[in-house]
Amino acid sequence: MKPRDSIRLVQAAPAMLVVCAPERNLGERAVRPSPGSSLAVRLESHIIRLPIAGCWIWTGATSHRGYGKFALTHENGRREFVGAHRVSFELHHGPIPPGMWVLHQCDVTCCVNPDHLYLGTVVENTGDTLRRRGKIGAPSYGESNGLARLDWSKVRQIRGLYPKLSQSQLGTQFGVSQSVISSVVRCKTWKEA
Ligand SMILES: [Zn+2]
Repeated sequence: MKPRDSIRLVQAAPAMLVVCAPERNLGERAVRPSPGSSLAVRLESHIIRLPIAGCWIWTGATSHRGYGKFALTHENGRREFVGAHRVSFELHHGPIPPGMWVLHQCDVTCCVNPDHLYLGTVVENTGDTLRRRGKIGAPSYGESNGLARLDWSKVRQIRGLYPKLSQSQLGTQFGVSQSVISSVVRCKTWKEA
C-alpha cells in the first residue's frame, strides 16, 4: 500500500474509530533519534512508566487524539511536531519503513513503550481498534485494557472532578496511582463510544 492510499483510507473511516493521524515518515529525516542523543534524553524526560500496565506515558504535549507530540528541529532550523511514539520506535527498533504506521498493542495512545509498539498499516490499525472495542468479537475497549482498575462510572467521575481535585488527590480517592489518573485525564485512554 502506498502512503497516499493510507491517507485516503483514514479520511474515509468513520469518525468514531481511533486511528492514528497520518504521520510523516521519520526515516526520511535529517535529524534522527539515537541512543544517548539529545533527542533520546528529551524523550526520556517526558515519560512516566506505569508499573503494572508497563506503559510509558508521554507527559508532554498531546494531539487532540491523545498521541504524544514531539518537537523536532531540522538542521536548517525548521521546527515541526511528530508522533512521540514514532520517535521512541525509531530510537529502539530502527527506521520506520516508508508508508508504515507505528501502532499500539496497548491501545494507550500516549504510550511510547517500544515493546507496546509495532509496525502495521492503517487497515491493521482500524481492525485492531475494532477488535479491541468489541465490534468484531473481543472484549470492550477501555475496561479490557492493561490500565483497567477503573470502570466507566469512575472514569466519568474522575473527568468531572479534574482539575478541581489534583491528580494525586484523585489517585488516593480512587485507589490508583497518579500516573493512571494522568493517563485518564490527559491522553484519552478511555474513550466514549
Ligand atoms: Zn503501552
